[in-house]
Amino acid sequence: MTVPIEGTLFVVAAPSGAGKSTLVNALLERESAISLSVSHTTRPPRPGETYGRHYYFVERAEFEREIAEGVFLEHAEVHGNLYGTSRTTVQELLGQGRDVLLEIDWQGAQQIRRSKPDCVSVFILPPSRAELERRLRGRGSDSAEVIERRLRNSRGEIAHAHEFDYILVNDVFDEALGGLQAIVRAVRLRSALQWQRHEALIGELLAAGA
Ligand code: GDP
Ligand code: ADP
Ligand code: 5GP
Repeated sequence: MTVPIEGTLFVVAAPSGAGKSTLVNALLERESAISLSVSHTTRPPRPGETYGRHYYFVERAEFEREIAEGVFLEHAEVHGNLYGTSRTTVQELLGQGRDVLLEIDWQGAQQIRRSKPDCVSVFILPPSRAELERRLRGRGSDSAEVIERRLRNSRGEIAHAHEFDYILVNDVFDEALGGLQAIVRAVRLRSALQWQRHEALIGELLAAGA
């Protein structure tokens, strides 16, 4: 049995309200063979969020125990809550040859770059501060206090955008989505991957006497 070529790890970050989850969900509808990693968090669920689909919602004590057990590939405190990515889930999916997408903050992205230097990272910017605020309020999922905190934290997050491989501005949604799709497709066509994927074809093309 042939071992599948390991998938690519994509990391997407953005200040809260920039449209990261909306873009990622639209990407997943269009691109097959890419899986979203469901994070663990101590944040309480928003209306409509379900356990195992949006997050694994856990108590802080349980999260801290899992940190000590080495459950997480990365973890960070964001806006006063703990968030983390399961190591085994990501490894299993990558091992099966699937691409995996992490929606995480910049601190988590830094940790992932250290342990997985081949990852591809994308930072999403809102088109303006006023629009970021409008989207956060318009989403209607957070209290005024939580929104204020997220807006205050957005500067600290945006200051790290230059550490990412790509920066996308989410102004016109379909254009931003096209940009995200282009990144995923270009990464899949990188020669190191294509050379392995098309080994048989390349062998045939290079065969002597043809
Ligand atoms: P959002 O801003 O609307 O996406 O709000 P969330 O509460 O879903 O996410 C809050 C922050 O935590 C965002 O910056 C996420 O990128 C980050 N985040 C979510 N999951 C993870 C994770 O598993 N690890 C890390 N490090 N950050 C995460
Ligand atoms: P994030 O995951 O970055 O916190 P969301 O994906 O929840 O952000 O998006 C925040 C809000 O902005 C949502 O109500 C979403 O529908 C809206 N939104 C996302 N992208 C755009 C866009 N390009 N134009 C207008 N509204 C958008
Ligand atoms: P929200 O609470 O609005 O769902 O997410 C707030 C922030 O936490 C977002 O920036 C989101 O990307 C980040 N986040 C969500 N899951 C993780 C995670 O597993 N790890 C890290 N580091 N950040 C996460």
